[in-house]
Amino acid sequence: MNKRGTALRHQLAELRGPGVPARTLDARALAALAANPGCRRRAILDGAGVDKAALADALGAPSAFGQSQFAFMRGNAFEARVKADGGAELLRLAHRKLDPGAEPPQEAHVPDLTAQGPDGRTARTALALREATGAGGWTLLDHPMLALEVAGSPAFLEPDAVVVHPDGGWTVVEIKSFPMLDGSADPAKVGAAARQAAVYVLALESVAARLDPAPRVRHRVLLVCPKDFSNLPTASAVDVRKQRAVTARQLTRLTRLQDIADTLPEGVCFSPELPPQELTAAVEAVPATYAPECLAACELAFHCRTRSRARGAVTTLGRSVRAELGGLSTVDDVLAAARGEAGDPDDPAVAALRRAAALRAEALASAGRGAACH
Ligand code: SF4
Repeated sequence: MNKRGTALRHQLAELRGPGVPARTLDARALAALAANPGCRRRAILDGAGVDKAALADALGAPSAFGQSQFAFMRGNAFEARVKADGGAELLRLAHRKLDPGAEPPQEAHVPDLTAQGPDGRTARTALALREATGAGGWTLLDHPMLALEVAGSPAFLEPDAVVVHPDGGWTVVEIKSFPMLDGSADPAKVGAAARQAAVYVLALESVAARLDPAPRVRHRVLLVCPKDFSNLPTASAVDVRKQRAVTARQLTRLTRLQDIADTLPEGVCFSPELPPQELTAAVEAVPATYAPECLAACELAFHCRTRSRARGAVTTLGRSVRAELGGLSTVDDVLAAARGEAGDPDDPAVAALRRAAALRAEALASAGRGAACH
């Protein structure tokens, strides 16, 4: 790592606080980050590996989501079952759903991917992928580690599995514990899984790009779920081309972490150990773009919503309303424009607000006249 990269790592460690370990960015967090690329607050907190759930607790605005212990254990038990027998069942599903023309998997090759630290594991994974690509059989990489550059800093990602096909192609495997009923699952959950898988596909593509010839990273991923209400695995192929394209575009729009870090006041720190007032000031030092969608995607949503409402920001009304209002960014601005007290009358948003206010006044006046006649 160059000097500039090392300095940034130090800076990010200082933002986390002394002795606070970095949380690795998972694909779910990255997919959510890509869904709100304009939020510098989320970018720097995730980039610095800040535990946003702990931060939200310390700010007095705990997040509402997270997996229950029971769901976590059930998910782990299902994944172990899917990968039992050296991944025989998993490879059988990959063969049937994605590559029926290839020779059926007789014996799975499962390389050892253990290594020291995320950099070591990433290098070990890249080596195993390269070896498996030329081997001509089926290989299962169990919890490989991939690196993806996000906002100028590497994020380490750990998919459930990657399968290498006999033709040398690579497939991402997502194992989820929500059920697949009669071959189909809850579309919202499948959509979330597809967005995560798309992040892994992008990370795999960056590994593939370093090989010559570059192996094909398949854009149909394997989603493995329990069949109906049983604990038996079933699978479907999910096309993630669209999610991959959207995520790639959004990730390139993220402001570089260095640029955000450079704008922060001296001594800013997000350690959950700090008193709430100090933490609030630290969080408020980074601009955010709150939208109601944050409620389903970011641990800081309640905090940001309260702040955004207190400022009367129109973003709390949703992105589409925000877009319609053009340059009017607060509810006070909107009301003043509608009353004719402020705003450029040639601005289409201002003109539409005045027309709406006039129509409303007219409707109220005629309702009042109607009531007076009766
Ligand atoms: S909740 Fe706050 S920090 Fe998180 S993405 Fe939304 S605005 Fe950004």
